[in-house]
Amino acid sequence: MTEKVQKVIPDEYIPEVRSRVVTIDNKDYLLQNDAMFTFYERSMGEFSPFFLAIKDEKKILGCKCPKCGIVRVPPMVTHCPDCNFTPTELVEVEQVGKMNTTPPITYFATSMFLDKAPFGRGRVILNGADTALSVMLYTTTGILVPGLIKKGTEVKVIFGDERIGQITDIYCVPASELTPEQLAKKGLQESELNWEAPKEPEFPEASDEDMAVYKQSLKEMQALAAEMSRSKRARKAIEGWKRDIAVKTKGGEFAMYIDDGDFKIEEKKLKSPDFVMACEDPRTLLDGLMYNGAITDSVIMKRLWISKNLEFNTIFKLDRLARFLAREKKEQAVK
Ligand SMILES: [Zn+2]
Repeated sequence: MTEKVQKVIPDEYIPEVRSRVVTIDNKDYLLQNDAMFTFYERSMGEFSPFFLAIKDEKKILGCKCPKCGIVRVPPMVTHCPDCNFTPTELVEVEQVGKMNTTPPITYFATSMFLDKAPFGRGRVILNGADTALSVMLYTTTGILVPGLIKKGTEVKVIFGDERIGQITDIYCVPASELTPEQLAKKGLQESELNWEAPKEPEFPEASDEDMAVYKQSLKEMQALAAEMSRSKRARKAIEGWKRDIAVKTKGGEFAMYIDDGDFKIEEKKLKSPDFVMACEDPRTLLDGLMYNGAITDSVIMKRLWISKNLEFNTIFKLDRLARFLAREKKEQAVK
């Protein structure tokens, strides 16, 4: 989860040097891409101590009213509106707290947050605070699915390694995923968490029937993959994308290779895959590739597990791959 140096305007939003022609009333006009821009520095004003504490001290500050004792996090008022505008004082609160709502999860983010999805967004009441702080939520156990973080779930604030003093410098993970030492540590950073050892689901022993289902599904998936690799339209869905995926099912394990338009499935155990997919019944995946129900839905519905949260993006591409092939076949059938 380490981030590169980011530009105020991400590169992909900057148009290319290019022109195009539009025809209006039979006359051609040339349009050229150009830019008009202003950059500015924004003052955090009286919120500065809160953001500076996150950036430099890895602390979460609130403001406390000396009269009524209420602690507001973030410290949004300098004077208590309930106590005749008594000046408040800054206090530090704990970095562990409880969710006061069940957070919705964003799977299909806007382009601004695409590299962060899936993520939860919810409100946490940190110990020592009386109001809730709005935070992004993640898990270290693989994909963030509903039920993992609910109202009342204990969570801990994690600090990004590179902090510039903005609210996205922090996020929360469930306290249950941390060791007692990590839980007790103040200013725990994301590089101190183990993101590489998510808990893979365990499947019961496969029966003869499971083995037969696996063999048959694998054969069908391999045939589909070959079709996808031959389809110009389907290839577009995975253009410029490269992933070696280990797929574990109850009946057996295989490898999926995505390589810039090529899509291949082999019965092989990958030693160092980019990520792991696990689904008890291989037909879940087969259905998805046949465009019979989305694979993204299977992930959200917990029928299919993936080891890395941000690989949801790859799952999204697999769905497009299936959709593009299905569309091409449909068009050919009409011809
Ligand atoms: Zn007060």
